[in-house]
Amino acid sequence: MATEVVMPQMGESIAEGTITKWLVGVGEKVERDQPLFEISTDKVDAEIPSPAAGILLAIHNAAGETVPVNKVVGLIGAAGETAGAAPAASAPAPQPASAPMAAPAPAAVAPAVAATAPAAPPAAAVAAPAHVPAAAAPEGEFDYDLVIVGSGPGGYVAAIRAGQLGMKVACVEKDPKFGGTCTHRGCIPTKALLHSAELVDQIRHAGDFGIAVGEPAIEIEKVHAYKRGIVDKSASGIESLFKKYKVEGVRGYGRLNGAHSVEVTAADGSRRTLTTRFVMIATGSVPRDIRVAPSNGTTILNSDHILEMERIPKSIVVLGAGAVGTEFASVFKSFGSDVTLVEMLPRILPIEDEEVSKELERQLKKRGMKVMTATQLTKAEPHDGGVKVTLKQGDKESEIDAEILLVAVGRAPVTEDIGLDKVGLTTEKGYLQINGVMQTKVPNIYALGDVVPTPWLAHIASAEGILAVEHMKAMAVHPLNYDRTPSCTYCEPEVGSVGLTEAKAKERGYDVGVGKFSFMASGKARILGKAQGFVKIVRDKKYDEILGVHIIGPHATDLIAEACVALQAEMTTEELMHTIHAHPTLSEAVMEAAHATLGPPIHS
Ligand SMILES: Cc1cc2nc3c(=O)[nH]c(=O)nc-3n(C[C@H](O)[C@H](O)[C@H](O)COP(=O)(O)OP(=O)(O)OC[C@H]3O[C@@H](n4cnc5c(N)ncnc54)[C@H](O)[C@@H]3O)c2cc1C
Repeated sequence: MATEVVMPQMGESIAEGTITKWLVGVGEKVERDQPLFEISTDKVDAEIPSPAAGILLAIHNAAGETVPVNKVVGLIGAAGETAGAAPAASAPAPQPASAPMAAPAPAAVAPAVAATAPAAPPAAAVAAPAHVPAAAAPEGEFDYDLVIVGSGPGGYVAAIRAGQLGMKVACVEKDPKFGGTCTHRGCIPTKALLHSAELVDQIRHAGDFGIAVGEPAIEIEKVHAYKRGIVDKSASGIESLFKKYKVEGVRGYGRLNGAHSVEVTAADGSRRTLTTRFVMIATGSVPRDIRVAPSNGTTILNSDHILEMERIPKSIVVLGAGAVGTEFASVFKSFGSDVTLVEMLPRILPIEDEEVSKELERQLKKRGMKVMTATQLTKAEPHDGGVKVTLKQGDKESEIDAEILLVAVGRAPVTEDIGLDKVGLTTEKGYLQINGVMQTKVPNIYALGDVVPTPWLAHIASAEGILAVEHMKAMAVHPLNYDRTPSCTYCEPEVGSVGLTEAKAKERGYDVGVGKFSFMASGKARILGKAQGFVKIVRDKKYDEILGVHIIGPHATDLIAEACVALQAEMTTEELMHTIHAHPTLSEAVMEAAHATLGPPIHS
């Protein structure tokens, strides 16, 4: 008995879909859940998995046809079974059945992601190519199934996933410990410092909650010892997971020596060649210097240096108000430094929603920080005990003499001297070009994380690693939708966002609606003494779909997870509004913002 393949309903308000491509030809074998055809609807583009295993007996609607949901578009049955006449559609408006199609031509590798520096996330994910790994990477006499160069959150997570899937995998790391920027010089140590900073602020305000304590004393060496302890625990956790999943951690500098070969040079100069079916380039990024203020490690620092600085400077100028710069500015403000945050663009956290940037600037100024936007640094002159910086804001020039200048204006991908020339790979603005499943144009070589032009974030590198490995294993995969990846800044107050900003949604042509709820009206935020900021929801008025959620305020970086689920599930604001949230919690503000998109919120 043949199984009918139907046009699925991809959302409550979706009535039809256009078949953009059949991924399997008539007469070809198909596995259950194997991607069968691609569709495009008003709301989403998707790959539709096969409902059964068997032979594709017939295609009733060719690529390019738009058909109503629930209409039968094809049939799957056993070998030798006949398709019979095209079945009558079960949907309200049946379409004429088309002649069976020939098998589709082998899918080409999907187009590469545009080579722009990822200050802003790419507009949308690219389409996934059909599975090609078997053809691209023939089984052979290799030492490994996969060799990964770099053990940051892209490389080490990919290694663990590969181990879990039974692949023989090696992860090569030039640093003494595994974990990359994220574990040693990024996410983990900065969040440890931010936690100490938050505690200092809380203790300063303890009297507001009826707890009498004196002015807190910051023992900066102990703050750093706590930070190092957390970093070490995280790094040894990675080693344990490597052991558990039989990942071979290889210490040394890795260079591609061919499409199936990686040469590793150990610290003592000895060399070893690892042959492999697949290669993954996960070499990450390093801080970028600027010409007018090259870092010197003493007065002009980058983010690596400042994490090692075990003292609290009297004054600091932070150049660059992206997430990294703003977080350090927040830490040192809490620790008692005189902080000036300088941004070349018209607003701080420039990729966030404009209202969030404005609110954050207001809050940071309220904390006593000096914030200068639309300001360029034109000169930095180090001297004994500090650095004199010259700043230009429009026609106005000013000077600040500070103990430290922190340059946090971006990062450079590590793609030099890793043997790209040996495999014919080139870069654009330093980035490797990849398709929707992280393959480079050499199909058995994948790249991800900070070496590709997607947002510089650990969770994105990890998600890309898992996607790449699952693609190698020919599992049914979906390209990441970069419109649904969260972005967080852990300063005080925190910022968390996912999806389109109000301006981006308008740019994309949506009929945009907005709902906003202030933490001032949240009982839990008042209990915490943090009743500032808001939740803002951006929606498409046509279908009421949630397009973006932007939070500034207490625990925004945790609260944003709910919004990620809502976007992933393509929820409407009405569905979010009707979702019962516990009281009293900060998450009620998310529900109330959903109310605000459709009418007045309850508590406002
Ligand atoms: C100060 C700071 C704070 C950050 N905070 C956050 C945050 O809170 N949340 C977030 O999501 N992201 C954060 N990031 C960004 C995040 O750290 C990066 O996006 C992420 O680490 C990228 O992961 P990756 O695997 O691509 O590369 P990396 O983490 O950079 O790892 C690459 C690894 O490859 C190794 N390597 C390079 N070349 C070779 C070679 N030839 N042979 C062997 N090994 C090699 C390097 O030594 C390194 O260990 C932060 C970054 C910084 C700088």
